Amino acid sequence: MLLQINNLSVEFSSMLQTVKALNHVSFSIGPGEILGIVGESGSGKSVTALTILGLLEKNARIKSGEILYKGKNILQISKKEQQELRGKEIAMIFQEPMTSLHPTMRIGDQLAEVIHRHRSISYKEAYRQAVLSLDEVKINDPELVARKYPFELSGGMRQRVVIALAMSAPPDLLIADEPTTALDVTIQHEILKLMKELAEKRGTSIMLITHDLGVVTQVCQRVVVMYAGKVVETGKTEEVLHQPVHPYTRALIGALP
Ligand code: ADP
Ligand code: MG
Repeated sequence: MLLQINNLSVEFSSMLQTVKALNHVSFSIGPGEILGIVGESGSGKSVTALTILGLLEKNARIKSGEILYKGKNILQISKKEQQELRGKEIAMIFQEPMTSLHPTMRIGDQLAEVIHRHRSISYKEAYRQAVLSLDEVKINDPELVARKYPFELSGGMRQRVVIALAMSAPPDLLIADEPTTALDVTIQHEILKLMKELAEKRGTSIMLITHDLGVVTQVCQRVVVMYAGKVVETGKTEEVLHQPVHPYTRALIGALP
């Protein structure tokens, strides 16, 4: 297993109340696997991602569990080691592309800087590879786009750039939290296809978080269904679709177009 989460419980506390965000969550992701995490808003998907990434806010408490990445419990490594892992082995993509982009830096330079950091090549060579990576995410006229600023691009184009950035290391695991939710439906499918293609090419595993079971059916081999902070169902996508066990999963399937 590349990533194995066992019994993970996370709480948020304020002066007024304690919210159980994750309640004994367990699941795993194999090498090269595309795993879907599906559930309604507030079910604990993003908290799961943030816990893996070591990005939980200060009011969060990990109450139990372990997160084994390549066999090592990453809940117990230092902040610095977590940061290194995020910079290199575990990449992330969020719903809003601008979360990952520098607003006042040209696209080509943003990519080149990251590529330059990961590989021992000159900046000029990194820039050349940056342009190639834009071509790889199917951006037309990559040389022109490399000279543009994020605000000059459409949402779909920006998310393609974010994918190029995320895949540049290349990572072993890509955590994508609602990566297509902010995009038009026609573009959603293209972006999903692109992520899948790149992941297969690089051998990267993907944890694809979505509230939309339709997204899961398009690209995920396996799915984890979350409800109110718990994993209520896990299995091969086809099996879950044909023989759902939990009432919430049945409701999700019933809502598919
Ligand atoms: P989603 O499945 O929509 O991504 P989240 O993982 O964001 O859900 O949230 C799970 C639960 O944790 C929700 O009840 C949410 O209100 C709570 N929660 C998330 N982040 C915080 C926070 N920073 N402070 C307090 N509660 C939070
Ligand atoms: Mg979320």
